[in-house]
Amino acid sequence: MRPGPCAPLAVVTGGTRGIGLALSRRLVRLGYRTVALYRHDTQAAHRAATAHHLDVIRADVADANALRTAAHRILTEHGTPRVLVNNAGINIDRPFLELSVSDWQRVLDTNLSAPFHLTQALAPAMLAAGAGTVVNIGATTGIRPRANGANYSAAKAGLLHLTKCLALELAPAIRVNCLIPGMTETDELTTRYRLDHPQHRAAVLSEIPQRRIARTDDIADALEYLVGPLSSYVTGQKLIVDGGQFMW
Ligand code: NDP
Repeated sequence: MRPGPCAPLAVVTGGTRGIGLALSRRLVRLGYRTVALYRHDTQAAHRAATAHHLDVIRADVADANALRTAAHRILTEHGTPRVLVNNAGINIDRPFLELSVSDWQRVLDTNLSAPFHLTQALAPAMLAAGAGTVVNIGATTGIRPRANGANYSAAKAGLLHLTKCLALELAPAIRVNCLIPGMTETDELTTRYRLDHPQHRAAVLSEIPQRRIARTDDIADALEYLVGPLSSYVTGQKLIVDGGQFMW
């Protein structure tokens, strides 16, 4: 059921596909009016909006001006968010010596600068409202770097530290945490690791103590905790949901 006009507001970037869609759907189920930002597939976004009771706004989060315009639309057309989920993310993996400046910049802009711009644009209203939660979606490579992904690893490491800085500066009204998915069943991941091939899937599973790849709902369960009352004393933390693959 679509939450009513007085329901609290949530915003999810990249919220119409993959993990972001599961997060948007969960927020709707928890009673949030949910605005999902998407990049290019308008038809798919509107299908998701209709099926899952979302409002959608098209904005390339890698474009600071577009993102600030979207933030203005959110505040004027929808209100002050109670929850902000900075989820949109991309990989452009290359060996470091082949990484172009634009590959570097695009990944930094999408994964790290976008959370900076959007949180900075929305936080004043959230602070004025006296309550809010920001959840940044990180990656395990932000803690344990991997070869051929210097841009993504650096961006996600930066996002983790940005989370902690914002938790310090926006407290006590706004809690800020970093939710770190392990390998999670999305079209992007299936293609990248060729998981439809049984041998590739078995090789991946052998490295995960829980012997399965995360479902997007596993990540939504963790989000539910981080935005809910049971985590009211939790801020500046990382929550890793990876089936025990890495144990930091
Ligand atoms: P997908 O590729 O399935 O989806 C990415 C989402 O981000 C899409 O909704 C996409 O929008 C959106 N997006 C990407 N770039 C932009 C942009 N410039 N402007 C607006 N939206 C954008 O990714 P996942 O669901 O797998 O990943 C979601 C998050 O989880 C990312 O931050 C990723 O780094 C992180 N993560 C994922 C893991 C996994 O195993 N899947 C593991 C660890 C972390 P559109 O649909 O319009 O293209």
